[in-house]
Amino acid sequence: MNIEVLEKNDNRLVFVVSGISIEMVNAIRRIIMTEIPVMAVDEVIILKNDSPLYDEIVAHRLGLIPLKTNLDNYNLPRDCECGGYGCALCQVSLTCEITNTTNKPMVINSGDLNSNDPDIVPVHNEIPILKIDKNSKVIIEAYAILGTGKDHAKFSAVSNCAYRFYPVIEFDESKITKQDEQSLIVKLCPEKLFEISNKKLKLKEDYWRTCTLCKSCEQNSDGKIKVSWKDNTYIFTIESDGVLPFDVLIKKTFEIFLSKIAEFSEKLEEIEIS
Ligand SMILES: [Zn+2]
Repeated sequence: MNIEVLEKNDNRLVFVVSGISIEMVNAIRRIIMTEIPVMAVDEVIILKNDSPLYDEIVAHRLGLIPLKTNLDNYNLPRDCECGGYGCALCQVSLTCEITNTTNKPMVINSGDLNSNDPDIVPVHNEIPILKIDKNSKVIIEAYAILGTGKDHAKFSAVSNCAYRFYPVIEFDESKITKQDEQSLIVKLCPEKLFEISNKKLKLKEDYWRTCTLCKSCEQNSDGKIKVSWKDNTYIFTIESDGVLPFDVLIKKTFEIFLSKIAEFSEKLEEIEIS
């Protein structure tokens, strides 16, 4: 297996992976999307809410706030020794008590939540939760736990995770010489990957980065352009809202993958095959 990273920042990771079957790439994608545990608010006690929003809407908004996750210090409630009741090893409290003493309406943001663990805090401090008028008050207690994307979408470790085939476009430029033929192909490519230079049809060098394999060039070239893809090579993209760094995410993915394979072989040994 070979991996080449094309783009990496805090929110986006793009790499080309080759020498791997589509089943394996898809298994990795599914684990990333649904099996990696991350923190999210799961229980809310609203003691005072003077905002115009219903308590249920406030609770929903709190659940959707991405929280930085530390996987080393917390257990999934179902695996915790407290039996999921809620203890310091499986739960974090985020509280907020604010009275608007100013003369104008006030917006309560995610940054106004006080966490009892400085590692588990909102990824962004400017996510608006609600708005209160002057002399109004809000008192909220929220409890965050670890969960997986399989339990609820708010526990998704990534915002997006997808792969696509590595495109290959081949043609002989000496066979596509008519000007109207060339300009039709340039015009029909939705990603604008073709250009005419010195009366010849040229393909951009890094066309494979954005080509969606729509085949509109092939279908309008009278068989002169051939669109295909490389075998066992995929362009993998992961987008994150910042709950987990990519290195932790990838490491955890393979930990889960290997534990699933181990579990499968154990189960297989239990079965008597006659
Ligand atoms: Zn516990």
